[in-house]
Amino acid sequence: MANATRLHAIRSRRVITPQGELDATIVIEDEIITAVHPNAHTDSRFSHLPTEDLGNLALLPGLIDAHTHINEPGRTEWEGFVTATRAAAAGGFTTVVDMPLNCLPETTSVSSLEIKREAAPGKALIDYALWGGCVDGNQQHLEPLARAGVPGYKSFLVYPGCDGFTSIDRANLERALPHIAATGLPLLVHAELDPPIEAAVRHLNATGADWRRHDTWLASRPDQAELDAIAMLIDLCRQYRFRLHIVHLSTAQALPMIAAAKREGLPLTVETCPHYLHLAAETIPDNGVLYKCAPPIRSESNRELLWQALIAGTIDLVATDHSPCPPELKRLTATQLGEEPGRFDEAWGGIASLSTALPVFWTEAISRGCTLSQLAQWFSAAPATLVGISAKVGSIEVGKYANLVAFDPDATFTVTPNVLHYRHKLSPYMGEQLLGSVRGTWLRGEPVFTRTEDIDVFAVTPRGREYLLSCLS
Ligand SMILES: [Zn+2]
Repeated sequence: MANATRLHAIRSRRVITPQGELDATIVIEDEIITAVHPNAHTDSRFSHLPTEDLGNLALLPGLIDAHTHINEPGRTEWEGFVTATRAAAAGGFTTVVDMPLNCLPETTSVSSLEIKREAAPGKALIDYALWGGCVDGNQQHLEPLARAGVPGYKSFLVYPGCDGFTSIDRANLERALPHIAATGLPLLVHAELDPPIEAAVRHLNATGADWRRHDTWLASRPDQAELDAIAMLIDLCRQYRFRLHIVHLSTAQALPMIAAAKREGLPLTVETCPHYLHLAAETIPDNGVLYKCAPPIRSESNRELLWQALIAGTIDLVATDHSPCPPELKRLTATQLGEEPGRFDEAWGGIASLSTALPVFWTEAISRGCTLSQLAQWFSAAPATLVGISAKVGSIEVGKYANLVAFDPDATFTVTPNVLHYRHKLSPYMGEQLLGSVRGTWLRGEPVFTRTEDIDVFAVTPRGREYLLSCLS
């Protein structure tokens, strides 16, 4: 029979809903959750359904990563829709939002957006959306990008590492912001300013600093670079009333300023990343270029303040900033005669983390008394709101897509290349024992990833599709 409704159910003693943790059965009709039914009450309407019983495994809403670098088209040898979405599904994600800078062409106009759209179909295992770029001089493209369906924009206040995606200064930002405010979409900003960085690098080079040390990298990206940028952005947010989102906050020194801006009622949200919540500068080894990211990983005491701010709500959400590259760009070993490996100033910055973000986070969260409900808020509900897709995803509720994750919060495992499903198996977590294991991921009602013992199985047919967020008529 054509168009028959597919009706089935998933049962767990620990379903994480906005109302808290429930012993419940989720009824799924085609792609949608149509009932969240308490297991204590038997109901003859559901008893005949094919039901998968997860027992004590927790059932979480599909995670949403608002900060993924997919790099396709143009740098598919770094990553791509196939590998990034497999890695994401294995990490419990059902939606990723791609950054506009590492692909070629960069996503700074509707025509470049269309080129990316042509590269994606038939490859993505999970759903995705595509951020637009706000760069030096593309303000005339911002509203057309919104009409074409981007959920928001990304800007850099410092050099982003790719020549084709220009950083933007205050004067140019002020030309762009009226257009962004008109769309109602968020502007995500890499918040570091150049002058404190340039001064620090001049001093380090004048004093013969050793660039194979993480201390040197840390000193070259001082807290002040983030503080100056965030102060400027808050000022602009007050003036132009656009939705401001600070990506990958690293310095805890900015938290009082952010809390004050929120109290003032400014439309400001903030993310941090699992690596800032798990790692600390004190334990990063020399030549540890796998740990290189910008802003850098700071001190243990800084990390504790980030945790407090996340729990207090000053930081709204957690995003991976999954930013992979080929091994030669990490400069782990010398690839040419005379090259010095392990130099932080020469290695590509960025940590690939889609497959490990959830357990890296949970390993730390559990010792701070955090719950799975909080995890669902920071990794699913809050990013859904930022991206503008919370009507469809972000929680286990009737009417939403059956995007689900079976998670064993008590299991431990060791990070090996086998569990990293992105293209290049590089990770600062290699060999580390982590807490919490993703056992299965469902996209709109259908399984896309299953882990049985140590065997990872993926859906054969990629069903991932793009969220179109046309906000302007
Ligand atoms: Zn990034």
